[in-house]
Amino acid sequence: MGKSTPTLDEVKTFRDLIVEVQDRGICGRCGGCVSFCSAGEFDALETGEDGSPRFADEEKCVKCGICYLICPQIKALNNELDEKMGWKAPIGPYRKLVSARTTSPKIMDVCTDGGVVTSLLTYALEKKLIQGAIVSRRVGPFARQPMVATKPEDLLEAAGSHFEETFHLDEIGKQYTSFVPSIRDIKRLGEQNFDRIALVGTPCQIYTFRKMQLLRVVPSDTIALTIGLFCMENFSFDEKARKKLERNIGVRLKSIRKLNIKDNVIVTQENGEVVHVPFEAVDDVARPACFACSDFACDYADISCGGLGSPDGYTTTIVRTGVGEKIYNGARQEKYIREWSPRGKDQSRLHKTQMMAKIVSFALRKKKRAKRTLGEQR
Ligand SMILES: Cc1cc2nc3c(=O)[nH]c(=O)nc-3n(C[C@H](O)[C@H](O)[C@H](O)COP(=O)(O)OP(=O)(O)OC[C@H]3O[C@@H](n4cnc5c(N)ncnc54)[C@H](O)[C@@H]3O)c2cc1C
Ligand code: SF4
Ligand code: SF4
Ligand code: SF4
Repeated sequence: MGKSTPTLDEVKTFRDLIVEVQDRGICGRCGGCVSFCSAGEFDALETGEDGSPRFADEEKCVKCGICYLICPQIKALNNELDEKMGWKAPIGPYRKLVSARTTSPKIMDVCTDGGVVTSLLTYALEKKLIQGAIVSRRVGPFARQPMVATKPEDLLEAAGSHFEETFHLDEIGKQYTSFVPSIRDIKRLGEQNFDRIALVGTPCQIYTFRKMQLLRVVPSDTIALTIGLFCMENFSFDEKARKKLERNIGVRLKSIRKLNIKDNVIVTQENGEVVHVPFEAVDDVARPACFACSDFACDYADISCGGLGSPDGYTTTIVRTGVGEKIYNGARQEKYIREWSPRGKDQSRLHKTQMMAKIVSFALRKKKRAKRTLGEQR
């Protein structure tokens, strides 16, 4: 797929990320580069006011090249990573593909699709298989903040994609963004003496984490489980773009109760009306970095979850690794989650085939979009 690791005499550093990623407008402000540089106590990098990484003190750069290698927009370690993870076309490795949902009414009440993510984490926490999980909680419409959940109540607070009535658009300033810089929180874990943490993230975040793990750099050794979310795009927009967005989708953002993404963007309004918005109508406010991103189904996670392909109220769940299988099977046996498929062997097989076909078609669509974006820039 990609190029292999550069040799030592061609080590690339944050200087190269400025040219190859920032100047091309495809930095997703994920915080991966800063997170490693400060966890390694080099402190050459910092996060600017707008969330972009920058040199704090270039003199302190020891030219280790790790910020470059772990950046999700750099494909330099792809071959090594694919080999380690046993990546296979078209959507990465998997042991099971299933529609599932939580058995907890409390979780079902607040979750995005079938509450599988929150249930798997609740199981793993209650059985002490993990000490906590990096998730994100809502702090405003389109705004979430990473948090380390150490109790099932924290997980409930982080679940779902409902907009609280108490959130006011005016309160979160002029810039709205749905991207959560969770990778930055990995750094804090070492300081808290955690060594068995789960990470929930979008494909770019899980990819960055896997590259950290491949290079065996701190603080990736604290992560014991990764749950990835399918992701077509994330959004970031200002006041002007907000008005345009409201026009494009025909809904006032103030009247949105819940936002979900499956094969399109699903907007549930306060009055209960549901509007399905095609991705093209929200392209204007998608983050530019997302157009260069080629992973839809979170190919490198232990377990990947999305709504695509499952009936409403269920999570499409891809169990990919041995670690993922242990958690998934345990949660199912202990009745934290249950599976669904239509009655009858043929119907059940057909459902799986259709689920897979949908995921593959979105994965290919995203790969094509990334190729187009990067190709156009060259
Ligand atoms: C930005 C984004 C884009 C998505 N795009 C698609 C798509 O195109 N197609 C599709 O089928 N599914 C998509 N999903 C996944 C889908 O919306 C659900 O998250 C998934 O099906 C899991 O549902 P659940 O009920 O099992 O999760 P829940 O039990 O509700 O748990 C959701 C978990 O995700 C975390 N979370 C929520 N928002 C974010 C965020 N922005 N960044 C990181 N973590 C977050 C929460 O903290 C929580 O732990 C997307 C999700 C996100 C966040
Ligand atoms: S010290 Fe390493 S991680 Fe930090 S900026 Fe330099 S090359 Fe990047
Ligand atoms: S995409 Fe992430 S790792 Fe790459 S330069 Fe931007 S913040 Fe750093
Ligand atoms: S589309 Fe890619 S870069 Fe954008 S949030 Fe999703 S995984 Fe990250």
